[in-house]
Amino acid sequence: MRNTFLMLLVFYAQFSFGQQTLDIDFKTASAILHIDLDSAGVSGSIGYTFDVKNKIDTLKIDAHKMHIHKVILNKKPVDFEYNNSQIYIVNQMQPSVDNTLLISYSTQPKQTLYFFKKEDHFNVWSQGQGKYTSHWLPSFDDVNEKLIFNFVFTTDSNYELISNGDLTSKIPGKDGKTDYFYKMKSPMSSYLVALAIGKYLKKTETSTSGIPLEFYYYPEDSLKFESTYRYSKQMFYFLESEIGVKYPWQNYKQVPVHDFLYAGMENTTLTIFSDRFVVDEREFLDRNYVNVNAHELAHQWFGNLVTAKSGKHHWLQEGFATYYALLAEREVFGEDYFYWQLYQYAKQLKIQQEGELATPLLDKKASSLTFYQKGAIVLHLLKSKIGDNAFKQAVANYLNKYAFNSADSNDFIKEVDVMTSENLEEFFNKWLNENSFDYEQVLDVLKSQSTLILDFELIDCEVFQSKCSEYLSMPLHPKIKAKLVAQMPELIKPEHFKESHEVRLSIVTRLNTIALELKPNFESLLDDESYIIIEQALYKLWMNFPEDRAKYLDKTKRLKGNNNYNIRLLWLVLNLNTVNYDAEYQQEYLDELVGFSSDQYHFETREAAFGYLNAIGYWNEAALQNLKSANNHPNWRFRTTVRDLIKNLKNNKALKPYLEDKE
Ligand SMILES: [Zn+2]
Repeated sequence: MRNTFLMLLVFYAQFSFGQQTLDIDFKTASAILHIDLDSAGVSGSIGYTFDVKNKIDTLKIDAHKMHIHKVILNKKPVDFEYNNSQIYIVNQMQPSVDNTLLISYSTQPKQTLYFFKKEDHFNVWSQGQGKYTSHWLPSFDDVNEKLIFNFVFTTDSNYELISNGDLTSKIPGKDGKTDYFYKMKSPMSSYLVALAIGKYLKKTETSTSGIPLEFYYYPEDSLKFESTYRYSKQMFYFLESEIGVKYPWQNYKQVPVHDFLYAGMENTTLTIFSDRFVVDEREFLDRNYVNVNAHELAHQWFGNLVTAKSGKHHWLQEGFATYYALLAEREVFGEDYFYWQLYQYAKQLKIQQEGELATPLLDKKASSLTFYQKGAIVLHLLKSKIGDNAFKQAVANYLNKYAFNSADSNDFIKEVDVMTSENLEEFFNKWLNENSFDYEQVLDVLKSQSTLILDFELIDCEVFQSKCSEYLSMPLHPKIKAKLVAQMPELIKPEHFKESHEVRLSIVTRLNTIALELKPNFESLLDDESYIIIEQALYKLWMNFPEDRAKYLDKTKRLKGNNNYNIRLLWLVLNLNTVNYDAEYQQEYLDELVGFSSDQYHFETREAAFGYLNAIGYWNEAALQNLKSANNHPNWRFRTTVRDLIKNLKNNKALKPYLEDKE
């Protein structure tokens, strides 16, 4: 999972290592399910085959808040107990093979499977990790229980339904419903089961190794296809050869969905990702899918093929996915990009350390930053220490040895030890078990490997003030130039506005007071390629030159900005605060701003709209209704912002009645 929004928050990995896996081996799960879009309901049955390895007296299946209609064990109906989270079948069983268990049920899941309606069509998607698949499918919360899943789904024929494995057949019925048959070949944990339903088109390519790659997109986004999925095939090829183990599954599908909780989720053979990453050529500059794309793909090996036994070893999934995503990005963006990212990771970890928030890497309560970024840095240090070949061979051996199984950190360390004569005990102890993060050591390694990092540390306007003008006129790397500009904004010259995107972004972010001689250059940023730069430039010009506000608003009137409507939202608010500009359309603009807070927009856009509405103090009935409807949004961060806002607004006596829940 790639979670850009919650990066700094503590991630409580929700794993448990149950006893049941030792005595029973569940082998296959075959479900026949009807997904009813109008009622947001799931109903049908799931059948398991299993071997009993040691004598047992109870079978246990996780199933949250369901109606369990019937349980059939080895073709005979049996009594069961259900406590709203687990089904217990008390029945003595001797060691035996090929037993069967069938559960029929129905449910309207409150989490894990989410039903959205945009305009007049549905978009349904699942998120198993951290949310438990057992909220819509009786299954196993224990990640160590791996089985082969097969599905027959029935749903409305107007939609595409995408799930794990091969679509072996798709049969339209007479009742306006279609049956989808999906089949897996190899076992996986239940948290990797996935389902997406929506209006989609797809393009299919084949990897160099012969794996079908399916890229889904909304019908209206055909022009964004290339920029969204850029480098996909190249990175697939790269990761297969870099990891040294063939892609372990039948195919690989990627599907964007509305209001996804995270950036992306690596369900086996089916990555689901946020449609905020569906971008055109220009939007690509400000935000793109490349890193998330590579990260989720890397998980198909690290996490899906070999799963971390428990939350304590979560870095075996996230640290590896983060590092291999960076390696794939190095392939397309180059060395400087690669080292720059590692350098940023190290700086973030240094800040975490200074805030005394650091934990060991092997701690189930470690932060995302620790699991992801520290994990990646540890792998880079290890690779630098033992050499590329030994590292690569150790990783391949580890994956092959624990394929379709789970492993812990020691299992990985053992494979590393086999490949090197170096004693790594101290290394692993320091980097896996200790709280502290040795920033200086990481920096030394990066400086020894990258001239960019070396130069970036050396060339500094704060350290060598007298040299700053000279530096600023030199053809330096954009990262260095951007830093110098931010350090000495008073030395910015017209020619700096012609430099790269990063330098221009640094100028527009850093300069708050615009000198008159830079005014024309600053105005030229309203024509920039980057919508973030235009947004910033518009705001700062509007603030600095009140006499020209109408001119700036006229110029940017037709710009929407990125797919979060960043420019349009700002434009509306600036317009509403510009005296005598477009006065006759005030109400229309207010309505438009309120419209952006409705559930037809991504929660990021809604959050910005609520922020602006609050800033200008405009809360009409529609805005309050939109706010209330966001109160139960599945995205935790958005929901929290909304709840805080509601709490504040309730202090206003006039608004309070609109925000109370009706009894
Ligand atoms: Zn991940």
